[in-house]
Amino acid sequence: MSRVSIIERLRAIQILKHRGVGLTRKMIIPDFNSQRDKDRFFRSLTDEQKIEALNEMVRTSEHIVFLGGAGVSTESGIPDFRSKDGLYHRKDKKFGSYRPEYLLSYDCLNHKPKVFFEYFRENLDCRSIQSNDAHRKLAEMEQKGKLDGVITQNIDGLHQKGGSRKVWEIHGSALRSYCVSCRKEYGQDYIFENTEEVPRCPKCGKMIRPDVTLYGELLPEPAYEEAVALIRYADMLIIGGTSLEVGSAAQLAHMYHGKYLVIINKGKTKMEGKADLVFHDSIGKVMNQIVLGC
Ligand SMILES: [Zn+2]
Repeated sequence: MSRVSIIERLRAIQILKHRGVGLTRKMIIPDFNSQRDKDRFFRSLTDEQKIEALNEMVRTSEHIVFLGGAGVSTESGIPDFRSKDGLYHRKDKKFGSYRPEYLLSYDCLNHKPKVFFEYFRENLDCRSIQSNDAHRKLAEMEQKGKLDGVITQNIDGLHQKGGSRKVWEIHGSALRSYCVSCRKEYGQDYIFENTEEVPRCPKCGKMIRPDVTLYGELLPEPAYEEAVALIRYADMLIIGGTSLEVGSAAQLAHMYHGKYLVIINKGKTKMEGKADLVFHDSIGKVMNQIVLGC
């Protein structure tokens, strides 16, 4: 689309705004000659038009990927570790002498396993937590063939609970556990229901640990490698519920070079300058306004 027609279109948007009329239900996003034109177009949109643009992006993209962080789970009632009221700032007399980063570290698991499991059982039992609108919309997108997959830093299993099947958990899952010696896998209740201070494998007697990436550990390689491949292949990336301050999500986000980038997060994030659409809002509320065809 030429520069003149973009200017005409921007003018048309202004006129429609002035008349209090939204654009047509299906917004047509033009092809842009330059990044500057693209930025001007998206920055000129009203909140309502941003939702229309989001829907148009979803409608026209063929490989959509969602990259999510703690903010996706907070709307289900799980505290964000790093937020003001999150786990990392909670004063807990029992564990007060340890930093949360230590309590969720490989060091703690190995050197103070009783403390580790007490903390883990009290703070990371998410079995009764329910999925929310964002999880359910992503599952619907997957079912309708509009989502290649979800990449998540969360360990709560809420995407699967919401109906998603294509989920890459780059920090593992608190709902899985395994024996550190014989590698036998145990179900989601095992660590939480087990009454031993440190759960032991009935088969070989060694420790059973949660299948999560602890501080001081490397990310699970297959999940991360597959996440990289998904991101590189995507033509639309929706980043939600993360400030992109944690290394792995930020790294993945920087690997994206597709057509559309959308960020939905209540607070500011580090990559907003690169995004086409930015929503500082509830992720469930924004995702719920995506309307999928049959
Ligand atoms: Zn074992």
